[in-house]
Amino acid sequence: MYKVSAPDEKSRYHLAELARMFLPTGGCEVYARKTAQAAEFSVEDAAENTDPANFLYIEDLISKEEAAKILYKFLKEKTGKELDWGTLTGVRPVKLYNGLRRRNEDAFKIMRERYLVSDEKALLLHEVSEIQKSLAFDENPEAIAVYIGIPFCPTRCNYCSFTSSKIEKKKVEIYLPALFTEMRAVNALMKDRGLFAESVYIGGGTPSSLDEQDFAELLSNTKECFVGDRCREFTVEAGRPETLSAEKLEAMAESGAKRISINPQSMKQRSLELIGRIHSPQQIIDAFALARRRGDFCINMDLIAGLPEEEPEDFEASLRTVIGLGPENITVHTLAIKRASRLIEEDRYLAARQADNVRIMLQSASRLLKEAGYRPYYLYRQKNMAGNFENIGWSLPTYESLYNVRIMEENQIVAAMGAGAISKMYFPEEDRIERIPNVSDTKLYIERIDEMIKRKEDGIL
Ligand code: SF4
Repeated sequence: MYKVSAPDEKSRYHLAELARMFLPTGGCEVYARKTAQAAEFSVEDAAENTDPANFLYIEDLISKEEAAKILYKFLKEKTGKELDWGTLTGVRPVKLYNGLRRRNEDAFKIMRERYLVSDEKALLLHEVSEIQKSLAFDENPEAIAVYIGIPFCPTRCNYCSFTSSKIEKKKVEIYLPALFTEMRAVNALMKDRGLFAESVYIGGGTPSSLDEQDFAELLSNTKECFVGDRCREFTVEAGRPETLSAEKLEAMAESGAKRISINPQSMKQRSLELIGRIHSPQQIIDAFALARRRGDFCINMDLIAGLPEEEPEDFEASLRTVIGLGPENITVHTLAIKRASRLIEEDRYLAARQADNVRIMLQSASRLLKEAGYRPYYLYRQKNMAGNFENIGWSLPTYESLYNVRIMEENQIVAAMGAGAISKMYFPEEDRIERIPNVSDTKLYIERIDEMIKRKEDGIL
């Protein structure tokens, strides 16, 4: 066991995150000297109870970056490992990179030298940043993002940590009226403040798991409330192929939704069963064909690298099939074991075991997607990801989603409605956001709908 003595709680948190990336199954404890924990652990204790070679004391008064570099070098020497993302533990490395560029700093060099990011990942950041620079955002501060959450799915995937439960008609019957009340109230507040939706995103959950009538009603209400002349993007997630129908596609087209997601995660039957899905790979192909027949949707498809029992060949086969279908966007996720997921109980260390496989999978994804003309345009990381890699949104040129980029950059107000939805207030002078969450429990959300509206009225609108 390695032990690290950090100056205070703030630095301890970041250093412990970094230590977990080196040793995901444990093996390094980080203590803060200036908290109650100091009573249980001191330099003297460490000298007595820990092999001094396995003990690291991080001095007071050094910067967060320096402290992280010292720990990085210590654990690199002990474990023989290197991390592709260096000392970066945050979710949004592109935001950091873009911020450095805006301040005219040498972002690439800083990534390499201050954060010890590998050449490959620093180049990736630069590539994504360049593509984002070329996208035309509406700089008008009155342009905001609108999110609407439908917290229901046909079944729960074992890696899922979202607000979502199995769909039942009686739950939908009481959820939608509350949601529509919130949507109408937010619409009125936006009008009052002169705000308009630059982008609208209906996610969840799986919005298309609503039946045809409820789904059409959701879309027509959304259109009425938010999809005006200045709305540039309207996206609807139809993640589970078995929930899509010609009627629902018609409703989407009529409401102006141009972007949809049909998310296989894998094209291998066994993997779909293992993650708790109830559709077949063929249903994904059929749903895709149905959507294409209806017309001009920009279609996104998600895949996950590192699923249970998957080898690099399985992932590559899925990716080749998806590329063969020709969606405009392909998002490649790395498996992350999240606290609220079933997977953490079923196989806590799966992500750690899959790390080497995931590296090969992501490398082949990059090669195959580039060969097929896709470009990486947004990127984010999560905690407890296999190999500490990243999720990347790939797009054919001109089909990039503004909403996805904006959400990662956190440079815009987000009005989010529905159970578990998180609105964000943006303060441009400080380049800072403040989160205003709705409650996650659907029953509480319905009961406290007036409070959810009031929170937004006070907080962002
Ligand atoms: S489809 Fe998405 S929201 Fe629904 S259970 Fe699976 S991961 Fe969760």
